[in-house]
Parts: sequence; structure tokens; C-alpha cells
Amino acid sequence: MIKSTFHSHSRFDDGCDELEAYLISAIAKGFKVFGFSAHAPVIFESDWNMKLGFFDEYIQTTELLKEKYSGIIEIYTGLETDYYPGCIDWRVKNGVDYTIGAIHFIKNDATGVYMPLDGNREEFEETLKNGFDNDICSLVKAYYGQIREMLMKMPPNIIAHLDVIKKNNINGRYFDEEDDYYREEVLKTLEIISLSNTIVEVNTGGIARGYMLEPYPSKWILEACLDMDIPVMVNSDSHHPDNIDFYYEEIHKLLKKIGYKYQRILSGNKWRNVKL
Ligand SMILES: [Zn+2]
Ligand SMILES: [Zn+2]
Repeated sequence: MIKSTFHSHSRFDDGCDELEAYLISAIAKGFKVFGFSAHAPVIFESDWNMKLGFFDEYIQTTELLKEKYSGIIEIYTGLETDYYPGCIDWRVKNGVDYTIGAIHFIKNDATGVYMPLDGNREEFEETLKNGFDNDICSLVKAYYGQIREMLMKMPPNIIAHLDVIKKNNINGRYFDEEDDYYREEVLKTLEIISLSNTIVEVNTGGIARGYMLEPYPSKWILEACLDMDIPVMVNSDSHHPDNIDFYYEEIHKLLKKIGYKYQRILSGNKWRNVKL
């Protein structure tokens, strides 16, 4: 098993430490490959995203770290990119090795405000009320619809926390994943994923931050991904250096139990399947 993550944050965005602190922790924990994925700048106000003025420094710092740690750990420079109509295409920027595509915001057409989808409970309820008249079904459809649009218009290498919309849905507070409409939205999205050659990440970040006991996406979605030959990769989405392998052992066990033999990672500058 090759220990890796392609989803990590730092002081460049909403993480808490220098890039190098995450690497030092990764090396200590036996990681062989490490990808940085700062939240790419967006065209509206956001507390989470890297500011545009830091982009060059971010790329330069990761390049320096690649040199410094050459032969010790493989390092890649990624970005967690937001997709929304009119967003910047970060895939084509110099120095970017890969992108993780995410939907964190949805635009309220009436007000022009970009509303967060995976904030805290109060923020989620505000989005639900202001953007969708408290109709959870419309919110779910808008979320998965925007993922499908991203996959068709600007497919990333990796799709971030596919069902992050369940972040505040503990005990089915807002919706039931077994509802027909919910399953249909997910399965329609998986069909597009299977055609787009995108990797679905198995993200332990929600568990590390105490929001849930399950990864993104849910087990039944991972079973469906296996049926549809969709590749997966295990990522920690760590904001703190100590959490970079949080819940990894359990997730590897879960994936093997479902029937996965491989995860797909970037190594030797190529996307390849490696044994779990
Ligand atoms: Zn994210
Ligand atoms: Zn993230």
C-alpha cells in the first residue's frame, strides 16, 4: 500500500500551517506521495479560498519543496477548484499538476450572491431558505446538476467530496439518501463521471472534523462506483498536519470489503492504479 493524499490545505488558504509542516508530518507517517491542493482563488468574496495575490508564491513554494525533498517524497502541486458559471479555468495555469473539482457555492440568481453549500448548519439553512425556499429537493438537484455541468464543461482530474451536501445531514435531518430522487441524482452524476475519466476521492475530512462517521461519498455510492468501473483515491482533505492520515486504515479496510483492489494516484508523473 502506498500512503498518499492529493487533498491538503495550508496557511495559503484555510489550513493552519506552512506547506512544509504538512510534508514533515507526511514523511513521519510514511507517505510516499503528497499533493498540495489550496482552494483556488474565486471571483467573489470568500474566507476559505487563497487570494489571487498569493497564487505565484504558492506555486513557487511547492516547486522549492519538490527540489528540497526530491528522493524522499514525491510532491505534486494541485488546486481544489470551485466550479460555478463564469469561473476561472485553473487547469491550464503554469505549475499546476492536477485539479480537484468541487462545488462549494451555488449562485442565487435573484440576488447574485454565491451561497455556501458546505458551511456550518446555520449557513446551510440560510442557503436552503434564501436560495431554495426551504425545498431540499431543489437544492440537492441544483448541487448534483452543477457537478454534472462541471464534468461536461471543465472536467477536473479528481472530483472532491462527491456528496458533501450531506455534511449537515446527520440522522437524516434534511433528506434521506434512500429517497428515489436523491439516488437518481447521484446515479445520473456517476454516469457522467464514468464517461469523463475522473477519479472519485474517498475523503476522510468530514470525519476528522467531527461532522460524521462516514467518508464522502457514502458506502452505497462507493459500491455503485465499483460497479461502474469508476476509479477512487483515498484523501484526507487535511487542514492540520496531524490529520493527514486520519481514518486511513479504516477506509482502506472499507474499500477492500466493498471489493476494491486498487486506488488511482499520480506517481512518476502518471495517473496509475496502485494496490490498496
Ligand atoms: Zn472542499
Ligand atoms: Zn479541501
